[in-house]
Amino acid sequence: MNIGIDLDGTVADNLELLVETLNQHCGKRLVGDEIRQYDLCKTYCISEEEFIELMETKEEEIIVQSPVVPMAREYIEKLAGQGWQIHIITARHPRYHEITRKWLERNDIPFCGLHLLNSHNKLQTCQNLGVKMMVEDNIHNAYQLKAGGIPTILYEAPHNRYWSWQGTRCKTWKEIYQTIETKLDK
Ligand SMILES: [Mg+2]
Repeated sequence: MNIGIDLDGTVADNLELLVETLNQHCGKRLVGDEIRQYDLCKTYCISEEEFIELMETKEEEIIVQSPVVPMAREYIEKLAGQGWQIHIITARHPRYHEITRKWLERNDIPFCGLHLLNSHNKLQTCQNLGVKMMVEDNIHNAYQLKAGGIPTILYEAPHNRYWSWQGTRCKTWKEIYQTIETKLDK
């Protein structure tokens, strides 16, 4: 049975590095906790083109240097140990497949599928895999997945904290694990 797990912001803690990169680029001094929306272009008042250009030079570094979200490894290991098939489903571009795989292996995060979609539209992939639960921090992805019939846990982040969510919202990986245990039968 398959579980889908988003990567950035859910397993790889990239927010502070992203904010630091954008602060340097834009001459601002925000901290991660002040980010109130997923779209950083709006927060920093830059165009999508400018953001993409910046990420072309900085994204690889951010991917490699991001720490693991606290206790994500431990609870993903537990889920895998109980027979769940872990699929990492991310909007990262496929050109980062190799460094992403290495990051997961270096950090001992078990997975049986790694899907880099270059798109925030994860619905089709989740449907194709028949995922029983998706764990996601992007509120817009979560809305789309839920509307498409994929049970979704929203992992809390500063950028989704003030957005309404009619579903399970978890602040820790322990809560995510307990929710999966409670709601799903293998
Ligand atoms: Mg994410």
